[in-house]
Amino acid sequence: MSDSTPTQPTNFIRTIIDEHNQSGRFDQRVHTRFPPEPNGYLHIGHAKSICLNFGLAEDYNGICNLRFDDTNPSKEEQEYIDSIIKDVKWLGFDWKENLFYASDYFQQMYEYAEKLIQKGKAYVEDLSAEEIRSYRGTLKEPGKESPSRSRSVEENLDLFRRMRKGEFDDGSKVLRAKIDMSSPNLNMRDPVMYRILHAEHPRTGNAWCIYPMYDWAHGLEDSIERITHSICTLEFEDHRPLYDWFLDQLDVYHPQQIEFARLNLNYTVMSKRKLLKLVQEKYVNGWDDPRMPTLSGLRRRGYSPEAIREFADKIGVAKTNSTVDFALLDHTLREDLNKRAIRMMAVLNPLKVIIDNYPEGQVEEMEAVNNPEDESAGTRKIPFSREIFIEREDFREEANRKWFRLKPGKEVRLKHGYYITCTDVIKDAGGEITELHCTYDPASKGGWTDDGRKVKGTLHWVSAAHAVKAEVRLY
Ligand code: ATP
Ligand code: MG
Repeated sequence: MSDSTPTQPTNFIRTIIDEHNQSGRFDQRVHTRFPPEPNGYLHIGHAKSICLNFGLAEDYNGICNLRFDDTNPSKEEQEYIDSIIKDVKWLGFDWKENLFYASDYFQQMYEYAEKLIQKGKAYVEDLSAEEIRSYRGTLKEPGKESPSRSRSVEENLDLFRRMRKGEFDDGSKVLRAKIDMSSPNLNMRDPVMYRILHAEHPRTGNAWCIYPMYDWAHGLEDSIERITHSICTLEFEDHRPLYDWFLDQLDVYHPQQIEFARLNLNYTVMSKRKLLKLVQEKYVNGWDDPRMPTLSGLRRRGYSPEAIREFADKIGVAKTNSTVDFALLDHTLREDLNKRAIRMMAVLNPLKVIIDNYPEGQVEEMEAVNNPEDESAGTRKIPFSREIFIEREDFREEANRKWFRLKPGKEVRLKHGYYITCTDVIKDAGGEITELHCTYDPASKGGWTDDGRKVKGTLHWVSAAHAVKAEVRLY
C-alpha cells in the first residue's frame, strides 16, 4: 500500500503505481507530465490526459510537469504555447515551477546522440526518406540493411557533427539508431533519430538545423525530468521497446511508460491536423469557435472546467479503445450547471402580450429565485409591466387539452409574475399574429394563489419596456 489515500476509484495505472511504491522502484515518488506538442489548441481528448496526469500527481502527493514537446519547428507557434498554458490553468491544474520545454534539452540530446554513435549504436544515413521506407520491409518481410550501416564510428561522428553545423541540405541525411532490421517490431528497424531541417524555432531560433524525432526525444525528456510514470495513448505501445532501448543503451534514469486508451467521442473530430484544416480553411471562426471540440471552444460554449473534470473521472481509464457518447459530456455539464447556474429569463422569438386590466404606467418589482437548487444564490427583482414579451411558440390559437401553454380563454402562469388569461388575438393583413391581449388576476402575484386553482402551464417572459437586446447562440 502507498501511504497516501487515493480519492479516485482505482484503475490499472494506479495498480502499477502502487506496485512501484511497494517495490520502491521510484523511491515512493510519483512524477508525471503532460507533454503537448504546441502545434494546435488543446481539445477534449487532451483534457482526459491532463486530468489523468495532474490527478495522479495530486492523489499521490506527487508532481506533474507541463512540458512543451517543441521538437518540430515547422508546425509549432507561440500562440499555441500561450493557449495551452491558459487552457490547463482554466481546467484548474497547477504545475507550479514545473514548466519545461523539450527544446531546452537540445544540447543534452545531441550529446547523448554522440554517445550512441561512439557506442556503435547509431549511424548517419545517406538514403532518401523513400529509400529508407522501401528498405524497411513489412510486417511479413524483414527489412534490408542500408549500405550506410557499416560506416565507422569516426566517419559517423564526423558526418553527424557536420549535419549539426549545417553543411548538408534538408532531407539529405538522417541519424539512425542501429538496432535490428529484421525485428518483428517495425519501430525497431533502425528508426530515425535526427533529421536536417533548416527552420527557425520559436525558442531556439536558428541555433539548430537538426531536430530530434519523437521516439528519440520523448524518453530523454522524461529521463531528464526524472519522470516516474510516462503515461501516453495506446498507439505508443509498440514504441515502448524503443523507448526502453534508448534509455538502456545510454544507461540513464529510466521512467516507466504506461499506455491507456485515448478518448474518442462520437460526432467529434479530435485530430489536431483536421482541426487545423477547419481553422485554416475558415470553416470555423478560429480555434475557439464554440463549435470546436477545443477547450477554448467548449469554454465559449458555456462548459465549465468542473464539468470537464467530472467527465474525465466518469469515463475513467482503460486499456482498450472505445467511443464515449457525446451525450455523457452534455449530461455532466447539465448536472454541474443545474447546481450552480443562475436562472434568467430571455425570450428568443418574442410575441407581445398586452395585459388590458393592468394599470398603465405601473411597474412592479417581482421577486425571483436565482437558483432553485441553491438557496445561497439569493433572489433578484424583475420588473413587471402592462406590456410583456412571451415566446411566440408558447402560444397556439388552436390546441387540444394536452396543450398547457397559452391559448385563447386559457389561464397560464407567468413565472414569478401573475396568472394571465388570453382574451384576444390580433393579426396583420397576412394573418400573422402581431399581439395578444390578456387579463391578469391581481390575486396571483408572484405566480401563485392559495385558492387551490390549478394552473399547469408556466411561461417565461420579459417586460417589453425593460427588455434588453442580446445575442444568443444556439447549438
Ligand atoms: P493529435 O493526434 O490530435 O495530433 P497528439 O496526441 O499528437 O494529438 P499531443 O500534443 O502530442 O497531441 O498530445 C499531448 C498529450 O495528450 C499526449 O500525451 C497524448 O497522448 C494526449 N492525448 C492526445 N489526444 C488524446 C485523446 N484523444 N485522449 C487522451 N489523451 C490524448
Ligand atoms: Mg503527439
